Amino acid sequence: MGASPGHRRVALVTGASRGIGAAVARRLAAEGGTVVVHCGSSTSEAERVAEACREAGAEAAFVVRADVRSGEELKKLKADLERRGLMPSVLVHSAGTAYYGMLDETDEDEWDDLFRVHLKSAYWLARLFGPAMRWDRSGRIVHISSLWGLVGAAGEVAYSAAKGGLNSFTKALAREMASAGVTVNAVAPGAVDTDMLSGFTKEEREALLAEIPLGRFASPEEVAELVAFLASERAGYITGQVIGLTGGWRI
Ligand code: NAP
Repeated sequence: MGASPGHRRVALVTGASRGIGAAVARRLAAEGGTVVVHCGSSTSEAERVAEACREAGAEAAFVVRADVRSGEELKKLKADLERRGLMPSVLVHSAGTAYYGMLDETDEDEWDDLFRVHLKSAYWLARLFGPAMRWDRSGRIVHISSLWGLVGAAGEVAYSAAKGGLNSFTKALAREMASAGVTVNAVAPGAVDTDMLSGFTKEEREALLAEIPLGRFASPEEVAELVAFLASERAGYITGQVIGLTGGWRI
């Protein structure tokens, strides 16, 4: 939400040690307020992002750590923020992992793990931080989903299903939160140039690029720009949407 005088914005960005989350944290920082830079284990990278946030204009920026697969760790994160007198009015959930493998090669643990990382985490975050937003009658939740959650991808059935679940979760939660003026949206990127694509060979990257009408991957900053808009006062009438950011790919 916008940082009105006397009510400075507190933004929590999960998975902000690198990639899309880091770009979102830096972009939100440019609008002031406090940015909480979450990471899973890359704390020194996250510290560098927090430093960049302070340089970009945040009044405060600091690092918190929690495995988003663990409700207990996320409860501790919330308690840590409460001790600091902070409750996020903006929640951007970007933490996530990729998984490549045909369904026949995907064992139950891998399936469950992806659903915990991408979907159950969103449940915990909304359970923990949604009530204060409703109480304040303001708030913005933005999930970083994926094009694959809309159209599905061979070799990524589990990931596609988890992101598809996240899209439905976004739409349903938006309806529950709307009467309190809290918006809930998802951004569904196609391919974004982050560590997540680092497992691809040169040939695989070229094959991907050949499919994208704009002929290039998105930058994390381009995703961050859309997220910043959805997190702002200006986007107050947009809720329950899954917005593709794909360079024209498959949508
Ligand atoms: P990335 O560069 O690999 O960064 C992933 C981030 O998530 C890191 O900050 C990592 O923190 C955190 N993370 C991963 N597992 C975690 C866990 N269990 N607990 C806490 N934090 C965890 O990935 P990215 O490309 O920015 O992706 C961000 C989001 O965009 C993901 O949800 C992804 O599915 C989605 N997305 C990405 C693309 C793409 O092409 N890059 C396309 C569509 C959608 P640590 O390093 O500290 O563990």
